[in-house]
Amino acid sequence: MHLAYVALGANLADPANQIRAALAALTELPQSTLLRASSLYRTAPVGIAHQPDFINAVAALETTLAPHELLDELFAVEAAFGRRRDYHHAPRTLDLDLLLYDGEVIDSARLTLPHPRLHLRAFVLAPLLEIAPDCRIPGRGLASAWLPAVSMQAIEKLAP
Ligand code: ADP
Ligand code: MG
Repeated sequence: MHLAYVALGANLADPANQIRAALAALTELPQSTLLRASSLYRTAPVGIAHQPDFINAVAALETTLAPHELLDELFAVEAAFGRRRDYHHAPRTLDLDLLLYDGEVIDSARLTLPHPRLHLRAFVLAPLLEIAPDCRIPGRGLASAWLPAVSMQAIEKLAP
């Protein structure tokens, strides 16, 4: 069994419900169990009018899928839930990123682990630390040590 953390993000088409639907979809992944899901977090778009809020969350999965297999499953969920079907190449409503997979370090064409921007984003760090306060990022130490560096990024934890 392996422990993986997945970041969920959406900012189109009722993003909070997109994230809830995506979390439900993660419970259906093959060879995997959803262990924990964070609260939903809202980031107000800055400087752009008439854009929906970004909603983010992080999920912990126990899985026997290999990292690239898990990534493919996440892409399938993105495709099923995330794409508006109303026109060609419409923007995604859902982004699923693989943040961590055990302590693995991978740098392939399709997959970089740990996720290269995880430690720079409050909207990833805050939900990750909610469900994994002692979490370590390979090569970067405790995830919690990176929180002060993103403290100027305003995010709001939503009520359940
Ligand atoms: P972003 O998540 O940066 O907004 P995309 O979701 O469009 O952008 O992903 C772009 C590419 O990032 C994908 O083709 C995917 O193969 C690659 N990628 C590399 N590492 C990861 C990772 N850890 N999680 C998800 N995608 C990744
Ligand atoms: Mg992505």
